Amino acid sequence: MSLALVLNSGSSSIKFQLVDPTKHATDDPFASGLVEQIGEPEGKITLKYQGEKYTLNAPIPDHSVGLDMAFNLMGEHGCGIKDVDITAVGHRVVHGGILFSQPEIITDEILDMIRDLIPLAPLHNPANIDGIEVARTLLPDVPHVAVFDTGFFHSMPPAAALYAINADIAAQHGVRRYGFHGTSHEYVSSHVPEMLDMPAAAVNQITLHLGNGASAAAIRGGRAIDTSMGMTPLAGLVMGTRSGDIDPGIVFHLHRSAGMSIDDIDKLLNRDSGVKGLCGVNDFRDIEARIDNEDQDAWLAYNVYIHQLRRYIGSYMIALGRVDAITFTAGVGENAVDVRADALADLEGFGIKIDPEKNAQPNDGAREISADDSQVKVFVIPTNEELAIARYAVKLAEQQR
Ligand code: ADP
Repeated sequence: MSLALVLNSGSSSIKFQLVDPTKHATDDPFASGLVEQIGEPEGKITLKYQGEKYTLNAPIPDHSVGLDMAFNLMGEHGCGIKDVDITAVGHRVVHGGILFSQPEIITDEILDMIRDLIPLAPLHNPANIDGIEVARTLLPDVPHVAVFDTGFFHSMPPAAALYAINADIAAQHGVRRYGFHGTSHEYVSSHVPEMLDMPAAAVNQITLHLGNGASAAAIRGGRAIDTSMGMTPLAGLVMGTRSGDIDPGIVFHLHRSAGMSIDDIDKLLNRDSGVKGLCGVNDFRDIEARIDNEDQDAWLAYNVYIHQLRRYIGSYMIALGRVDAITFTAGVGENAVDVRADALADLEGFGIKIDPEKNAQPNDGAREISADDSQVKVFVIPTNEELAIARYAVKLAEQQR
């Protein structure tokens, strides 16, 4: 069996998976794990393999040591890089700017280009680059492939991609809408034509990636024409801890009136806002439990979340003109029955009708949840970004041979 190693490197963590690219979205990966607390006094590595979980606690000074230790832990339990056949390594890279529209085999030149994009993603791209450099050293004979979170949205028309600010300043500083979660929107939307039994080029669809981060996309004939995240992943829908769209004037107000620094406001909007900011928790299971106990803050947070979601669905219906399918995915989208029901409630006049019984079925693979007489089909399609990255990595590696 040939496998792809998929790496998602953050500033203090590396998520890794060994993936069989022929498997389905809901199958467990061959092996998976997490290196965390890199650079802190005590680090931790976990590995899941064949139903067992292994943990190692030790200081992890940097990404290089972390990945090396992860490979050793895998080796000790029979799934090390010498025990399995790794044909490609796929790296999640957050920001591809306007430079990358599709995944690329990583060369020194490509790595330099990813480095050039650091000003656009100062927290994410350096960590991604660290992961790539370390992995290329540890696995020098295997093709490494960069898969960009922004790639799918590269083709958005200028009217959707540009912000109405001074054009020179925007061009000089790369200020435009890039969109994120592209791997997920592309993966999920690619299943829809088959589920509709329509040619891909004819399908107009809306995809809703509702996880801890959340985004919506409008897709015509496989090409994204709009998306809710912007220059950064802070824009758009209300999320677990991120505000989504706010009046930009709020930033000036908080700075001037509350004396908050730019870093304070950055933290507020990215980590202490969204449903967590409104009711104290960001996990929808907790929010649902609190609503059941008549907690008013949770109820309000839920309604703000749904209100914003419906605004985006409405605007994408207009952007597309005709919608064939609306698809829910990611942790909230795949599991939260009420969120799906409320997001699309009372839209029969627009040809959208959910079947409550189908909607209430437990999460079990790709499925339709719309009523038989719903003009617009509504689907739940589990996403699996690692699997999508693994497939790209293997495909490009094969093309290179
Ligand atoms: P991430 O954006 O971190 O990749 P996921 O797509 O895994 O997130 O989504 C995680 C979120 O999904 C959780 O924070 C929680 O709000 C939600 N979630 C997961 N399972 C359920 C469930 N059974 N019911 C409701 N919400 C759920």
